[in-house]
Amino acid sequence: MKQMIYADNAATTKLDIEAFEAMKPYLLEDYANASQPYSFSRGVKKALKDSREIIAKCINAEPDEIYFTSGGTESDNWAIKGIAYNDSSRKAIITSNIEHHAVLNSCRQVERLGVPVAYLPANEEAIISPEILKQFITKQTKLVSIMMANNEVGSIQPIKELCAIAHDNGAIFHTDAVQAVGHIPVDVKAFGVDLLSASAHKFNGPKGVGFLYIKKGTKIAEHEIGGHQEQALRAGTENVAAIVGMAIALKNNCNNLAKNSELVTEIENKFKSLLSKTNIDFIVNGSKVHIPGNISLSFKNADGEMLLHRLDLLGIMVSTGAACDSKSTQISHVLQAIKASEEYAKGTIRISFGKYNSLKDAEIIVNGLIQILS
Ligand code: PLP
Repeated sequence: MKQMIYADNAATTKLDIEAFEAMKPYLLEDYANASQPYSFSRGVKKALKDSREIIAKCINAEPDEIYFTSGGTESDNWAIKGIAYNDSSRKAIITSNIEHHAVLNSCRQVERLGVPVAYLPANEEAIISPEILKQFITKQTKLVSIMMANNEVGSIQPIKELCAIAHDNGAIFHTDAVQAVGHIPVDVKAFGVDLLSASAHKFNGPKGVGFLYIKKGTKIAEHEIGGHQEQALRAGTENVAAIVGMAIALKNNCNNLAKNSELVTEIENKFKSLLSKTNIDFIVNGSKVHIPGNISLSFKNADGEMLLHRLDLLGIMVSTGAACDSKSTQISHVLQAIKASEEYAKGTIRISFGKYNSLKDAEIIVNGLIQILS
């Protein structure tokens, strides 16, 4: 069989085998609806309770602050619209120009309905500085939403400082932590955030499931109305197997955070060191403080789309940027925001290593790039 090197873990990750095994009984045997009062539902109810506890512990939250959703997109939509539509004399929202489209398009939607939205400019390392937030925030600001780590270039934001500024001005703080949870330490109490979005398939859990952390006391409008599930804020029969898989995957990643991070950092360093020994002209985008193993590279006078397909022919899976942006051949909004020069920006690819990659993968990808670019 042809080799396959998967280096697009920021797009999605391989399911953790223990998570898969834990899910199986809830698909085949314990298929009861958790809302029913009979004994057959008891095990399912317990599985939901246990999963909520496991997830809460991983991010230092309380179990009743974890609300299950269908993934990062839904969590982001709920956070933005749920705050925009709650009752309050304040109206304005502040976000940044490097957010995922789940946040950006939710903001654009509420903007069309009359909510003023400011988009903070990121600096050249794709960092939103506390100083820039201080310049934009007013006593009218209701919500500040800044991602924990950027999905294209990996830059990690100063969330604790940004959150403190929001709170000093009486605003609620949301962070899209989809790229961070399960990869770097995330402690909602230490950061002080009010809302946090996460998605299971980014941390070796199943697709189509995630959660929104809502700090106790945060006034947020319901997202789905119907039954009483998720404290009557997000109605709908729970996807029990997926939720169980998410909890086990997160627990495994959090228990091995240092080990996994060490491995992917070693692979990343080997990759960069080998590439810098070639005569290929490239730059690395983003900040030195970034998600381990996430590398955004721009090659001079190259075409990112062409690179992706040529690497694909060699059995190597990478991305041109955000997975959801890769149908577009234009320079991404993140590269535009960080003012990447055109001669490099057009030749951008994102390589993101995960816990199932090896040092050998770094060598194979560099050899592939030499073959294509030399
Ligand atoms: N937010 C960020 C930062 C992401 O990287 C993604 C996925 O790429 C999402 C939100 C959307 O998550 P999901 O795929 O679970 O809807």
